Amino acid sequence: MHVCALRSCGKAIDEAAAQVATTANIRGLTAALKAGKTAVNWKVVGRNTGDAYFHRACFDALQASLRRRRGNRSTAALETKRAKRGNDGVQANTDGPAGSVMESGLRRSSRLRRAPATTAEAKSTAALSPLSRESFDEGPQLTGRERAVFEEAMSTAEYTDSLEDIKAKAAAVASLIKDINAAHSDGGVCFFTGAGISTNAGIGDYRGRKGKWTEEDTGVTTDEDGGIDYEALRPTFTHEAIAKMVGDNTAAFVITQNCDCLHGLSGVPADKLAELHGNVFVEVCSRCRTRYMCSQYVLDDESEAVVESGKIPKGSHVEVCPTCGLNHFTGRYCSRTIQGKRCNGKLKDTIINFGDDLEEPILTAAERAAAKCKLMISLGSSMTVTPANSLVDTAPKLVVVNRQLTDYDKKAKRTARVFADTDTFMRLLMEHLLPDKELERWDEFVEKTKRRSYDAARQPDAKPIVIPQPHA
Ligand SMILES: [Zn+2]
Ligand SMILES: [Zn+2]
Ligand SMILES: [Zn+2]
Repeated sequence: MHVCALRSCGKAIDEAAAQVATTANIRGLTAALKAGKTAVNWKVVGRNTGDAYFHRACFDALQASLRRRRGNRSTAALETKRAKRGNDGVQANTDGPAGSVMESGLRRSSRLRRAPATTAEAKSTAALSPLSRESFDEGPQLTGRERAVFEEAMSTAEYTDSLEDIKAKAAAVASLIKDINAAHSDGGVCFFTGAGISTNAGIGDYRGRKGKWTEEDTGVTTDEDGGIDYEALRPTFTHEAIAKMVGDNTAAFVITQNCDCLHGLSGVPADKLAELHGNVFVEVCSRCRTRYMCSQYVLDDESEAVVESGKIPKGSHVEVCPTCGLNHFTGRYCSRTIQGKRCNGKLKDTIINFGDDLEEPILTAAERAAAKCKLMISLGSSMTVTPANSLVDTAPKLVVVNRQLTDYDKKAKRTARVFADTDTFMRLLMEHLLPDKELERWDEFVEKTKRRSYDAARQPDAKPIVIPQPHA
């Protein structure tokens, strides 16, 4: 159990209570911290890195202190700065009028970008803790260096609703799903998933407290061996629940930004899945377009240095991609025989990097599903990457389950905005959707039968399988 890092509180945080977790670079604060002169009692977890857990109310009080000190005018300046910067520390793209991609529907903008202009965090920190006049001179005081540290911590904050809240929201979403499925024969419920659903599978969340982009942003690094091979990843409870719902026709389609292949592995059929940003286990022939599903990660990570140096030796499979500046060629060649002749075309990965265009048939299938659905359930995504994020805006009703603030919280609040681990939420949801006996049977099937098939699919010597063109 964690203890609240607000020094003036210091009380234990009940696991089932609403809470906030943050990480920040605490460089320059160590002496004051040791002397007990900081408002936040950071727990040192690495060189210059501090963790902190708070009661939700204590975190809000600290945010209030930050704004109180800066006053209204400078707060506005601070928020504009944050808005421009984007959560990932990269200057937001400003091609076209701000927000146009999101508002006009992304039809002709299939290029992968980080979202323009508005970050949720900038807008909603203001909304989260309304300042009353009386509170102006009360509560914790953040001073000097600590203000900057806390400001950074705010951008990595992960919120968790109280368990009671999560339960109530899961019950409400379950009954909405039942209503929608009773009224519409198909296409009613869609999922939209991001890196947050794979954190329990061992893969880093890109925007979480220890996310890769956040690390680049803050200079805070976690241990080198924190990563895990893609081959070792297995579907989480969330993946299993989604696969079950698709199998039962309770959900119609899954749109994902994840490249880890875990939806496919858990059994979501290819015609009900749009992997917007590619799949690290799929390579495609640059000559005959044949696609291969492999048991191993296909990207050629090693040639990255060659690409960076710009000196690509003649005859090398490495080529600089004109749109992303990286290399997509895997170093393997197409084994397909066409009219008695081996194709031998160079194989490419299917990964969409920043700057690359999304694959049109996949994007179109996702758009069609999003346009048709009555409810979109977004899980584990901060929804800051275009054009993917605009898909969540198409649905009339939106549920967002993510521990960080997002630009779509306001819309989601009309249905359900859940701050929770996606596995926790999906477990509660399944308890409402399935009768006890069936839930038990399904749990057992996943544990005893399904999980065994995953190891087989990831055998290093398994032959690549030719798969159909997605959504052809
Ligand atoms: Zn507290
Ligand atoms: Zn080929
Ligand atoms: Zn590229």
